[in-house]
Amino acid sequence: MRFVIYHVGASGRESADDTQTPWGPTMPLALPEPDQVVMRQREAIVEDLRRLVAPGGIIGDEEGRRAYETDALTAYRRVPLAVALPTSTEEVSRLLRYCHANDIKVVARGAGTSLSGGALPAEDALVIAVSRMTRVLGIDTMNRTATVEVGITNLGISEAVKAQGFFYAPDPSSQLACTLAGNIGMNSGGAHCLKYGVTTNNVLGLKLVLMDGEVIDIGGRHLDAAGYDLMGLIVGSEGQLGIVTEATVRILRAPEGARPMLIGFNSSETAGRCVSAIIGAGIIPVAIEFMDKPAIQVCEAFAKAGYPTDAEALLIIEVEGSTEEIADLLNVIGGIAGRFAPSVLRISQSAEQSAAIWKGRKSAFGAIGRISDYYCMDGTIPLGKLGAVLVAISQICDKHGLKVANIFHAGDGNLHPLILYDANDEAEAERAEKAGEEILELCVTSGGCLTGEHGVGIEKRDLMRVQFTETDLAAQMRIKTVFDPKWLLNPAKVFPLDGRETALEAA
Ligand SMILES: Cc1cc2nc3c(=O)[nH]c(=O)nc-3n(C[C@H](O)[C@H](O)[C@H](O)COP(=O)(O)OP(=O)(O)OC[C@H]3O[C@@H](n4cnc5c(N)ncnc54)[C@H](O)[C@@H]3O)c2cc1C
Repeated sequence: MRFVIYHVGASGRESADDTQTPWGPTMPLALPEPDQVVMRQREAIVEDLRRLVAPGGIIGDEEGRRAYETDALTAYRRVPLAVALPTSTEEVSRLLRYCHANDIKVVARGAGTSLSGGALPAEDALVIAVSRMTRVLGIDTMNRTATVEVGITNLGISEAVKAQGFFYAPDPSSQLACTLAGNIGMNSGGAHCLKYGVTTNNVLGLKLVLMDGEVIDIGGRHLDAAGYDLMGLIVGSEGQLGIVTEATVRILRAPEGARPMLIGFNSSETAGRCVSAIIGAGIIPVAIEFMDKPAIQVCEAFAKAGYPTDAEALLIIEVEGSTEEIADLLNVIGGIAGRFAPSVLRISQSAEQSAAIWKGRKSAFGAIGRISDYYCMDGTIPLGKLGAVLVAISQICDKHGLKVANIFHAGDGNLHPLILYDANDEAEAERAEKAGEEILELCVTSGGCLTGEHGVGIEKRDLMRVQFTETDLAAQMRIKTVFDPKWLLNPAKVFPLDGRETALEAA
């Protein structure tokens, strides 16, 4: 089994900018054969689709479709049947109704930055990309909400409310490019989600188009909504249950100030134990980010942020609030860290230093990609196990003769080990994949989860049985069948490939 997660690096396009899409060679992971009946009718289908949306809203030519053949898991590519660029919920509804009636598969797409192949098209599927649906429909500072079309970028929401002194909290490193649609699809997180929660904690209401074209509203513009918590079901459902077109999100008052500190340690395990101690003391900084030595050295070379290059592990901890609150929190955290004999403890002294510290962290994937190919893993563990799991990860990689760089959101236990390897060395690539599989299994056996924030997509689809029993999976697939009786939405993702047949037989 191959489950390459994020293939990037020296053999591919080099970039130290985390908003850039990485590139890599084609990798084998089973994908279903396209439906030849649909493929033969492609031109007629494209003509039909053109009648459903405004002029220019359907891409049918080969060159145009090729632009959508992959996402950030670039090892996999499939040119879609056609691409629709709707500009309203009504258009999305017409498109879905047509596809439902004609048994045409559909892949919802935001900006295509998914690292797990979540937005990978299929040759017999229509891609519905919401990238033209970017309007801000309303800002309500009294109730601290913004209602937007979901094609808006993540950063675009904060930009839209900045003048009123507000911001949208979840901040994936890809926030310049990725859309709220994709964030909802993947329940995305980011460095500053420790305090404010991930996407699911910041979305209050959704407009969802069901596969048969019906439009429903879920949640609302307030804290709690009557009825079943369908929003909990839709956020993170990876385009499997319907297409979201609008959302009401929580916006927060921008803090008076924020300041990061750097704490270096002589071992990753000690840094891990320090994180557990800080959280265990009931302190929730805005961010606790972790880097080990390989990552520190590469990121420092890129960002010149003053990272301690001789430390074995580094924590970037940011706190926010008034000047007094910041000083108080930094003091308490410094006191806790002191118990773990840090080799360095340095507080940012200026806005420039703070910016450099975050530049280094947010560019980390790209900076590592300049020196080596790597697989970026994404799993979650209970925080108390952080120290032990970090030791086990390095043992796994040592066993396979590979180096690993760890850069991750330590405060919420979301690991991103980057397994370094040479993509031109097939045997080494195999070993890296095996190491990756063992690391994800380690996350599960440690009481954690296969995914942190990148979703299942295609790449962890076949590992779902490591996490879930057949009974658990069957229950999840029954829910999929309720929303999408013909299993037309985002095919071959999330559930093991044999799941569709089993679920349809059971229906
Ligand atoms: C350099 C880099 C850094 C990254 N850093 C982070 C990070 O810090 N945190 C993090 O969580 N992720 C990160 N990611 C992953 C990625 O950016 C997120 O998963 C993001 O939310 C995807 O958004 P998108 O608009 O690109 O969605 P896409 O990739 O287009 O789609 C993502 C998923 O959402 C579904 N979807 C899209 N639109 C809709 C819709 N309208 N309705 C229903 N489902 C839909 C798709 O079918 C797919 O399953 C990073 C990626 C890169 C390349």
